[in-house]
Amino acid sequence: MKITGGRVFDLEHGFVERDVCFDGALLTPDSRDRETYDASGCWIIPGLTDVHFHGCRGADLSDGDPEGLQSIAEYELSRGVTQICPAGMTLLEERLLKVCRTAAAHKREGRSGADLVGINLEGPFLSYAKRGAQNGDWLHRPDAAMLRRLMGAAEGLVKLVSVAPEEPGAMEFIRAVCEDVNVAVAHTTAEYDTALEAFRSGAREVTHLFNAMPGFTHRAPGVVGAALDSPWTRVELICDGIHIHPSMVRAAFKLFGADRVVLISDTMRAAGMTDGKYDLGGQEVTVKGPLATLADGTIAGSVTDLMACMKTAVSFGIPLADAVRAAAVNPAQVIGIFDRVGSLEPGKRANVVVLDQDLVVEAVFFKGERVG
Ligand SMILES: [Zn+2]
Repeated sequence: MKITGGRVFDLEHGFVERDVCFDGALLTPDSRDRETYDASGCWIIPGLTDVHFHGCRGADLSDGDPEGLQSIAEYELSRGVTQICPAGMTLLEERLLKVCRTAAAHKREGRSGADLVGINLEGPFLSYAKRGAQNGDWLHRPDAAMLRRLMGAAEGLVKLVSVAPEEPGAMEFIRAVCEDVNVAVAHTTAEYDTALEAFRSGAREVTHLFNAMPGFTHRAPGVVGAALDSPWTRVELICDGIHIHPSMVRAAFKLFGADRVVLISDTMRAAGMTDGKYDLGGQEVTVKGPLATLADGTIAGSVTDLMACMKTAVSFGIPLADAVRAAAVNPAQVIGIFDRVGSLEPGKRANVVVLDQDLVVEAVFFKGERVG
C-alpha cells in the first residue's frame, strides 16, 4: 500500500509531503504493492495512544467484563486510537484484581480492536479531599504490596499508577515501585514541596494537570510548579473543552513544551453514546452534550475521545504537529512502546490515520489493514 498526496506527520519537520508505504503490518521505505490510497489534501498521522480513559460505548474497564473491554478496544480503533491503556477507577482490591485479570486475558487471547498496551491504575491511592469523581469509600493508603498483587494479576500490563504524595507512606511507595511502573501524581492536596519530593523520589507523570489538585498561583505554585521544575516529568491534559479553559491549554503547551504534554481523553462509558445517566466507579453520572457530572455538579470524566480532544486542542490554537506529538508520540513514550508505534518511520507498525482537512477521520489502517 502506498498512501499518496497527503501531508505526513514528521518528528523533525512537523508535516512533510511524502508517501507512506507498507506491505503487511510494518511501514516500509517503499511498496511493491500496486495498491494506492489517494490522500490529496489530507493529513496523515500515526495512530494515537490514549493512556488515560475509563470506557466508551457503554462499557468501562472497571466493569471487569471481557466483552465490554473488547467493545472499548473496537470503538477506540474506529476513532484512530490504535493503542489503548485504559484506566481503572478507585475500587476495592478484589474488584481491581478482576479488572487486571480481565485485561490480561484480553491480551493473551489476542482479541480484536485497538492494541491493549497497558492499564493505568488511577485509584485507589488518592486523597479523599481531592477525590473528584472517585468513590471516597474505596480509597486506600499507598500500598506497594497491593500494587504488586495487581501487577501480577495483570501479567505485566500495569504501566501507570496514580498516587497522592501527601498520603501516609506515599514517598516510600513511590521509591519502592518507580523502577517497575510509571508513577503519576494525582488527586492530591500536595503543595509545591511535597510534589517536588514525589518527583525526586521517582514519580514521572502528572495525572490530568490542573484537575483535582491545588492551583498554580504566585506564592503557591503547587504540583504544576513542581512539575515545571522537574524536567523529567510529563503532564496529562484533558482537552475536551470542559475540563480546562482554552487559555490554560495554550499555557500548558507554552510552559511545558509540546514534548512534555500528554493529551488524554479521560472518557467514561458514555463516550460514543447518547445523553443520559451512566455509572462511573459506583456513582451515577449525568451526561448532557460534552458534560458529564455527579449529582453535586463535580465533573466526572469526559465523553470526548482522544481524536476529538486533539482536534479541540487545534481549535484552541495548538499547532497540529504539536497536538499530534501530544496524542501520539508522547503517550507512546510514557508507556515504553515508542520503538514500535507513535510515528511513521519505516520499521514501525503500519498504524496510520488519514484525516481530512477538517481533521475528521477519513481512514484508519491498523497493522497494515484498512479497518475504518
Ligand atoms: Zn481522575
